[in-house]
Order: sequence, then structure tokens, then C-alpha cells
Amino acid sequence: MQCPFCHAIDTKVIDSRAVGNHEQQIRRRRECTACGERFTTYESVELALPRVLKQDGSYVQFNETKIRAGLLRALEKRPVSTDAVDNIIHRIISKLRASGEREVKTQTIGEWVMHELKLLDPVAYVRFASVYRRFEDVDAFDAEIKLLKETTQEDA
Ligand SMILES: [Zn+2]
Repeated sequence: MQCPFCHAIDTKVIDSRAVGNHEQQIRRRRECTACGERFTTYESVELALPRVLKQDGSYVQFNETKIRAGLLRALEKRPVSTDAVDNIIHRIISKLRASGEREVKTQTIGEWVMHELKLLDPVAYVRFASVYRRFEDVDAFDAEIKLLKETTQEDA
């Protein structure tokens, strides 16, 4: 990294730390070995999150707050820790980033969330799915609940 003061090529890193919500950025303090001046650089992954393609064909930015709100609504009064919610969001973001796609459908993200909830809490899963999947008809919704009741012990 070239020194912005004297343009010497040789600078050394004197401190590195992760910054940002999910430590997506690295802040480095550098010192020029020629003139001794110090400066700061920021490094971040080049892969930006893909845009989210909505069903109506419009694009939006991935909205972590919105996903969290949806999860919390589904998990209301359920015995699930905040950490578990954070972990889900973390995994969704990792999946988005790892997809390498330029755009991801809302529906795809919804399926990922449903998959996570299904493993975490069956009641929250049904709540979320009923809103998100927009079950074609009531029968399909009932069938899904029946299936869950057969596979899990629901506490009343
Ligand atoms: Zn310098």
C-alpha cells in the first residue's frame, strides 16, 4: 500500500480490526516505513449482496431489518433465543453472499427462512409459511399443519 504522504511503496500494518455489523470490513492502521506518517485503510469483500427481485418484478436492497421483523413475528411467545434469530440471519446473509448471483428472488430468501424455521421451531415455521408462501388454498395449509403435527409433539 503506497504512502499517501511521501508515496513510498513500503508501509507496514500496525493494527487491524474488523468493523461493521457483521465484521464485513477490516480497518487497518498503517505506518510508512519511509516518512513515519500513519494512515488508515478499509478493506471489504468485493462481492456485494445480490439485489432482491420481488414478485412484481421490481428490485430492492436486501433488508436485514425486514427479515428480522418477520422472524420475530413468527417466533412471538416461542421459546427461542435472540442468538438463534441472529444465527438464522447470519446464515441467510452468508448464503446470499455465497450465491455469487447478481439477483436473488424474494421467494428464494423466503424458502431459506422457512427451511431454517422448520428446523428451529415448527410453530413459528407454520406461522411464517402461512404468510410467506401464500398457500394456494386453505386445504394446502391444513395439510401442511397436519403433516407437522404428525412429525412433532406440539405443546398446547
Ligand atoms: Zn511516507
